[in-house]
Amino acid sequence: MADKVQTLPYFFGNITREEAEEHLRHGGAGDGLYLLRQSRSYLGGYALSVSYGRQFCHYTIERDLNDTYAIAGGKSHRTPIDVIDYHSQESDGLICLLKKPFNRPRGIEPKVGPFEDLKEQLIRQYVKQTWNLQGSALEQAIISQRPQLEKLIATTAHEKMPWFHGKIDREDSELRLLRSPRTNGKFLIRERETNGRLVSYALCLLHSNQVMHYRIDKDKAGKLSIPDGKKFDTLWQLVEHYSYKPDGLIRVLTESCLRPSNSSERGATGGILSRIKSYSFPKPGPKKGLLQNPYNIDSNCREDLQGNIFHTEAMPMDTKVYESPYADPEELRSTTVNRSDLTLEDGELGSGNFGTVLKGIYQMKKTQKVVAVKILKNEDNNTAVKEEMLREASVMQQLDNPYIVRMIGICEAENLMLVMELAELGPLHKFLQKNKHISGKNITELVHQVSMGMKYLEEHNFVHRDLAARNVLLVTQHYAKISDFGLSKALTEDENYYKAKGHGKWPLKWYAPECMNYLKFSSKSDVWSFGVLMWEAYSFGQKPYKGMKGNEVIQMIENGERMTSPPDCPAEMYNLMKKCWTYKAEERPGFSVVEPRLRHYYYDISQ
Ligand code: AMP
Repeated sequence: MADKVQTLPYFFGNITREEAEEHLRHGGAGDGLYLLRQSRSYLGGYALSVSYGRQFCHYTIERDLNDTYAIAGGKSHRTPIDVIDYHSQESDGLICLLKKPFNRPRGIEPKVGPFEDLKEQLIRQYVKQTWNLQGSALEQAIISQRPQLEKLIATTAHEKMPWFHGKIDREDSELRLLRSPRTNGKFLIRERETNGRLVSYALCLLHSNQVMHYRIDKDKAGKLSIPDGKKFDTLWQLVEHYSYKPDGLIRVLTESCLRPSNSSERGATGGILSRIKSYSFPKPGPKKGLLQNPYNIDSNCREDLQGNIFHTEAMPMDTKVYESPYADPEELRSTTVNRSDLTLEDGELGSGNFGTVLKGIYQMKKTQKVVAVKILKNEDNNTAVKEEMLREASVMQQLDNPYIVRMIGICEAENLMLVMELAELGPLHKFLQKNKHISGKNITELVHQVSMGMKYLEEHNFVHRDLAARNVLLVTQHYAKISDFGLSKALTEDENYYKAKGHGKWPLKWYAPECMNYLKFSSKSDVWSFGVLMWEAYSFGQKPYKGMKGNEVIQMIENGERMTSPPDCPAEMYNLMKKCWTYKAEERPGFSVVEPRLRHYYYDISQ
């Protein structure tokens, strides 16, 4: 959503009320002239400024829990643009109808707030330090989890601000503020504790050589406010607000009282960015920042920088299968697993063509790893099946991506065994069939991760040839990995498709027309399958082309017909599925196009 709003000609970004009024005055201030700006108190919210008579009215457009937008107490809409369209027809509580947008004068871009500037570097720093990631693992973590990371950073960003002094007492804060220069409006924020627990903050403000202390309370919803004052999502928004408006304080805030550079907190001199470079995020608690088992389906508790515990969902990086098992060369030197290092557990994870898949423990040099072990049934000593499994292993061995099940090794013992990373929640379609409450946003998050794994395959010239919801395994409710490389092929440098020797036992309902007609398989035919996978995901694991036979499906596709949209599937996602089902492979988008489309849609709905 933010992207779309940014491009609106009447969106002014992070400007104050007064600046908005000034703009509207310049625009002639006719009745119903309006502009849109970023809310300075609600994260992800907007403000609508409207002129009427000689006055100006400002309405906050809040984003609610259902990801819809509404002016407080008003009708909900899908986007802030819909809110504006609606109020162009119905005043419904507004001072007047919205008649004409006031567009930004030439050369004026939406104003970027101070936090926007810092965000990028803070996110990078946070991911690097919290999960100890670098290179492509770091980039992939940021791409797939940006909305969650942005929220995390937004609520902790005040830690990097020079005016944030951490846990100091009232007397200390006064000593710091009374040091010269004694500028009126000099301020700091300190943490307040009762019985050793952080309960709130205090804003300490210098005026006429006296220090005023204002308590900042946090309500049940986590909103911060000075008693009877405006509510804010973050401390930095509160500071920004009182920097331009006293709004009940003795005066506006003018100058940050800098945190002493030798204090236990981070250095306080120099520009904000140089401070961030040297800033070290506190090391998270056990299990890389999570207080609970990362495999939990429910939300987890995370500690923020002050030790406040808040609920958050487990991110892929919180699990043990995000980072590559090959990252530590000391641990995985060869792809041969000794049987004596492998303990198999009772109870099947699943079964397939080759045999069963069991959970196991692999004893490595330094640690133990919980793994999935595919065990070849060797009743009839079928060499063809054995070769097929070894081929699957040889493909997997070449792949190393967080959104693909990685191979740990091959173990040749009583049976031939393929040892892999464990994705305990099993196949996507079954998980969704059993969990109909999963939100559309969650489904989009998972489907986007699959597209990231597929983009990696495309870039490395591999075709999967069996991409379907049954072959996407879940590590957590928020972490998907592509599996089953039994039919996969590596392409050579000079050909971008694989030509099958003949028809086989194929998953026809997932196959593109050129696979059936010319036996040709490419990343583009994987894109077709990905469209079917998307359909399965948004229909909570329903069977595609239900009740139809393979040749009926082929006929339907040849006739130019496609599956209809799953109920409640967002139009943007159904349109993308239809793009994936473009008849001609050369006109069909690749994963290099599909992935960013999903990414942007996911960011939009997560704002
Ligand atoms: P496959 O033979 O690859 O189709 O696997 C058969 C079934 O075993 C899958 O549908 C899953 O339920 C389970 N399975 C396979 N690989 C894994 C894994 N890496 N982690 C957890 N379960 C798995």
